[in-house]
Amino acid sequence: MHEKIGIYLDNAATTFPKPKQVIEAMEHCLKNSCVNAGRAVYELAQQASLLVSETRASVADLLGFKTGEIIFSPSATIALNQIIFGIAWKRGDVVYTTPLEHNSVMRPLYQLAERIGVEIFNLPLEPGSLIYDINEIQKAFFNNPPTAVVMSHVSNVCGSITPIEKIAEEAKKYDAIVVIDGAQAGPLVPPRETNNIDFYVFSGHKTFYGPFGIAGFWYNAKSDLKPILFGGTGNFSEELSMPEELPYKYEVGSHNIVAIAGLNAACKWLKEVGPANILNHERELMFQVVDFLHDKEEFKCFISEDKSSQTGIFSLVIDGYSSQEVASILDQEFNIFVRAGLHCAPTAHTFLDTMPLGTVRVSLSYFNSMDDIDCLVEALAEIMNA
Ligand code: PMP
Repeated sequence: MHEKIGIYLDNAATTFPKPKQVIEAMEHCLKNSCVNAGRAVYELAQQASLLVSETRASVADLLGFKTGEIIFSPSATIALNQIIFGIAWKRGDVVYTTPLEHNSVMRPLYQLAERIGVEIFNLPLEPGSLIYDINEIQKAFFNNPPTAVVMSHVSNVCGSITPIEKIAEEAKKYDAIVVIDGAQAGPLVPPRETNNIDFYVFSGHKTFYGPFGIAGFWYNAKSDLKPILFGGTGNFSEELSMPEELPYKYEVGSHNIVAIAGLNAACKWLKEVGPANILNHERELMFQVVDFLHDKEEFKCFISEDKSSQTGIFSLVIDGYSSQEVASILDQEFNIFVRAGLHCAPTAHTFLDTMPLGTVRVSLSYFNSMDDIDCLVEALAEIMNA
């Protein structure tokens, strides 16, 4: 099994450790079949191509998409840039987003506002409960019809689940483009309804329990999207423009076949264990901590008031301590690893009123145990009583 180096509770940054099957598959690939996919006819290259297409199918299956196309990218950030800068915007277009977005959404959107004059609005969200009021969203859309909605499926700060299905349904009444940042969600929280989604971004190294270096997006293959990256695809090489064929139109350069081998094994592991079981385990551990903190005045937790709209990520602050101080004490005195600060989501902290120091974020994984949670709870109690 994995050698334990401390109690790792920073799984929203990247899930760690990885399932042993992922490590074995990557090592096997590096040793035996680390060749360039989609480029040649010899047996090993064909096998690499097969691995890529098999992994695409597994990702689509785990996310619940039956049509469309999986496009691989090196990271969720790059995938979001490909989508956000690939859409044909014009001045005055209206984009709605959540108040809890990661900078991989906010910074590209900010560029659209600066360069093109796209207007950005927040979807109405209640800061105390983190519950979306669909009536308020309907009103906002009526007053300022959306050109697009770009929203995270799960907040990387609070772990709250956005009701993307309902919001997408409202957005489609205005023919808006719907882009979902699922980096902290699918496949543990797959979309319950896929019809109204145009683009769904996933991250191999987070909720898929795979390695860094492989991510991408599901594309409905209908919405207009200009490629923003250009280069070799291993086919249609006589053309100087990008091929129209999917997924090649948006996939440039050599595939990271080692990372794809890891993601492929991660998908098999996910199917074996069951994404719902993984999510339930993470949630169960999270509620154990939150229940302990519940009646302690010194603590404030940032989670959804609706328990069913919450994953295994949450944020907290402790009276009299900065989030950095708490994270340092947990690290140095208790060997517990959490993240403190803004979590690359500054607008979320303006919204939660936790600017500029941010929050302590605890994020759980399938590989955390109740013992880990007992240690965290004891450590927080000691900090509180110090
Ligand atoms: N979206 C969300 C919600 C995230 O939490 C993150 C990473 N923290 C990203 C996008 C970007 O992922 P990456 O850094 O792997 O590109």
